Amino acid sequence: MPNMSPNKCPMPEQDPNVRNKNFKEVALGYTEEQAVEEAQRCLNCKARPCIAGCPVNVQIPDFIQLIANRDFSGAAKKIKQTNSLPAVCGRVCPQESQCESKCVRGRKGEPVAIGRLERFAADWSMANEKPESAKIEKNGHKVAVVGAGPSGLTCAGDLANLGYDVTVFEAFHKAGGVLVYGIPEFRLPKAIVQREIDTLSDKGVKFELNYIVGKTGSIDELMNDDGFEAVYVGSGAGLPSFMNIPGENLNGVLSANEFLTRINLMKAYLPNNPTPVMVPKRAAIVGGGNVAMDAARCAKRIGAEEVYILYRRSEEEMPARNEEIHHAKEEGIIFRLLTAPTKILGDENGWVKGVECVEMELGEPDASGRRRPVVKQGSEYTIDLDCVIMSIGTSPNPLIRSTTPDLETNRKGCIVADEATGQTSKAGVFAGGDAVTGAATVILAMGAGKAAAAAIDKYIKSK
Ligand SMILES: Cc1cc2nc3c(=O)[nH]c(=O)nc-3n(C[C@H](O)[C@H](O)[C@H](O)COP(=O)(O)OP(=O)(O)OC[C@H]3O[C@@H](n4cnc5c(N)ncnc54)[C@H](O)[C@@H]3O)c2cc1C
Repeated sequence: MPNMSPNKCPMPEQDPNVRNKNFKEVALGYTEEQAVEEAQRCLNCKARPCIAGCPVNVQIPDFIQLIANRDFSGAAKKIKQTNSLPAVCGRVCPQESQCESKCVRGRKGEPVAIGRLERFAADWSMANEKPESAKIEKNGHKVAVVGAGPSGLTCAGDLANLGYDVTVFEAFHKAGGVLVYGIPEFRLPKAIVQREIDTLSDKGVKFELNYIVGKTGSIDELMNDDGFEAVYVGSGAGLPSFMNIPGENLNGVLSANEFLTRINLMKAYLPNNPTPVMVPKRAAIVGGGNVAMDAARCAKRIGAEEVYILYRRSEEEMPARNEEIHHAKEEGIIFRLLTAPTKILGDENGWVKGVECVEMELGEPDASGRRRPVVKQGSEYTIDLDCVIMSIGTSPNPLIRSTTPDLETNRKGCIVADEATGQTSKAGVFAGGDAVTGAATVILAMGAGKAAAAAIDKYIKSK
């Protein structure tokens, strides 16, 4: 008999007033009993609509049935057939707008907690099983991957499974992309990301760290001089946007990217760490996405007394995951919605001392389908602050497009690539993830890496 509870089995979490002072994981994961109880909520329906909601085609009802039957190892294996980073996806995927949004249990209650169950199976396997070291026969062909984010790692893993000699070229000193430099430890422990990367190394994938493609060497050099027959570009969208309002160059104004990189990648919050980070007293984060929530929650954790989210639309339009908004509120982040900064104010030493804001109203929908915010006349006011963190979006860094002739890009600076294969305008060069779509999600970046790996295999075999 299925468990007909309309609600998901709750997942234990750290207390908000404790966790907003530490970087340990917020959500603690299901126990075996909780996972079995939740798995029993799946009706294993014939239509299986949840699978269509997953960009990497995880066979969701199958792995959930295995958990319900207490075959946790089998469940992890089932997920890994199509998803190479299940412990990551179980934690950060926007399941509410993907697989879980299609679950029939969601019609009369909460959907099955697919993400929590994926996380459970992946964590169980990590804690109880040794990574399988399958001997893969090499096929003698070399492929380069630019960028060690989820897109590049997925492409590298799939190509390695097919026998390719794969080298990943990464600009930073650590592999993982946004998974290590952007998403904080309290949402995604870095040991999990490292374990996934170690699995790739075991499969023979090589990592060239501190290698900036376009500076250390170009794509043409990799192909013409170093013998790589194809290149996958998964270089992400790491260039932050600013608002172009007065005062943005004052001391105490940072991009969310810089703030998060200092904290997450460089571990600036640890005592005696050589990379410092400003500890604000009162900080405002401008934006309403996952990045803004992460920056706000990090600011609180490093010691800021008051942290504001300034967002020009209402909560309904916020792009951040519901869970992140909920957690941020629980941790004491102050939401100033329908609010836009117009000027950052500085003191006589060039440091931020406040921000001038206006209140907004929602008008007619714009091109994105969301209601356009319009300024409410006479609503100006000031908030006293010492730090402003801009989190209003990112775009791809221009380095690769400016050093790769024949690589077509669009007016937003994204690489133009075929959606199904990742093929770009340049022969042998494929691309995917945020470098193509602009800032999106981990699972979409992984889906693109997977599709490109299959296309690269076809391309090389047909040469
Ligand atoms: C703070 C933050 C929180 C987020 N939260 C979520 C979330 O909860 N859920 C979700 O699904 N998505 C989230 N996202 C979005 C998600 O992380 C990205 O969509 C995803 O990481 C894109 O993967 P990618 O591999 O295309 O690029 P990235 O992860 O950006 O990786 C690109 C890699 O390429 C490297 N690189 C760039 N240029 C070069 C070069 N010239 N040479 C060599 N290497 C280069 C970079 O250093 C980087 O390591 C978040 C993003 C941020 C910034």
